[in-house]
Amino acid sequence: MISTAEASRAIANSMPAFDSGTVALEDATGRILRQIVTAERDQPPFDRVTMDGIAIRFDSFAAGQREFLIQGTQHAGDPVQSLDEDRHCIEIMTGGVLPRGTDCVIPVERISVADGVANLEEGYVPKQHQFIHPQGSDHALGHEVLNPGTRISPMDIAVIASCGLDRVEVNRQPAIRVISTGNELVPPGEPIESHQIRLSNGPALVAMLSQQGFVDTAHEHLIDEPKLLQVRLASLLQECDVLILSGGVSMGKADFVPQVLTELGVKVVFHKISQRPGKPMWFGIGPNNQAVFALPGNPVSTLVCCRQYVLPALLMASGGDKLLPETARLSEDVKFNADLTCFLPVRVSSEYDGIVSATPVPTNTSGDFASLTGTDGYVELAREQSEFSAGSVVPLHRWSNP
Ligand code: AMP
Ligand code: MG
Repeated sequence: MISTAEASRAIANSMPAFDSGTVALEDATGRILRQIVTAERDQPPFDRVTMDGIAIRFDSFAAGQREFLIQGTQHAGDPVQSLDEDRHCIEIMTGGVLPRGTDCVIPVERISVADGVANLEEGYVPKQHQFIHPQGSDHALGHEVLNPGTRISPMDIAVIASCGLDRVEVNRQPAIRVISTGNELVPPGEPIESHQIRLSNGPALVAMLSQQGFVDTAHEHLIDEPKLLQVRLASLLQECDVLILSGGVSMGKADFVPQVLTELGVKVVFHKISQRPGKPMWFGIGPNNQAVFALPGNPVSTLVCCRQYVLPALLMASGGDKLLPETARLSEDVKFNADLTCFLPVRVSSEYDGIVSATPVPTNTSGDFASLTGTDGYVELAREQSEFSAGSVVPLHRWSNP
């Protein structure tokens, strides 16, 4: 049985890369950037005024002048004006170009205007170059403002727009098909008998995927019938880049998934990881390079395996940068005796000293997914150790930050 680290490595080494395509800017949030974005112009593109007020020549103030004849008004978006005479000023609005011949902006709060003349407030002493955001001081034309691998945030959208791009190259959406297997499962909205179980993994997996920007997903439920599984999975393999199954990978008499996948030409990369929950996980690569993740059906196992293995693999294949690993400090002692890596669900809080603290939220069994509501993720407790004292620093995996 391979370790958790070996499983991650094996997936990373066998995942095919997804290609890229362009999307409109309004569809780009959350996608992985696949191009360099370079500055269209200097930023700011001109000496930009940062206050409503008047622009003057500072030397005139230094020479004792306190009253300035208003020569004209220049709004943001107006072509640049020039000072005709040193003793003049130009009314100027925030976001406008600094008028030629001026080098100081006096805020409107510091002047009074009468008969077309601006008078400085008694005793007010401006500084040369004040309230001017100099051309190119943020960055120069051609500067690489964003690099491939960035998950595009709303702030990045502002930067991309400022570079004049209305389309941007991002990861192509992989076609992902999600299958819940199990005779006992009944989807929400349908009548249910006392011996049956609500199908919850499929909707949760689709939700986890969509939270990470993977929206070309479709879910369906299949019963544990090898022939039917074979026919349907064969057809789904034709239409997808990624197949995610839940259930049917353990040692039960109705666990047909590994066998059926193998018969369909999906080459097993590994089966079983030394971890709890999620030990029976299976991973393989299909005949057309499809990534096939077969997750154990227990709901906690399904969610942990999706967060731990599926999402990082999809983001990597999409060209995404690897995020820095996070750690947290255990808030209480934990014992875990099995010779397995333990993924323990936690609630996270930030302590007064800025340290992230993780409070274990034990699940009854790996079927107790109701306890997961309100958790922020899980900590990883090393297989080699069985006792972890309060204060131990351990790897933290947040649900939302794969
Ligand atoms: P399996 O891995 O198929 O043996 O399933 C393990 C346990 O998880 C069984 O109790 C199943 O009823 C439950 N289970 C499997 N799939 C789902 C699902 N989609 N939603 C909720 N529970 C499930
Ligand atoms: Mg099952």
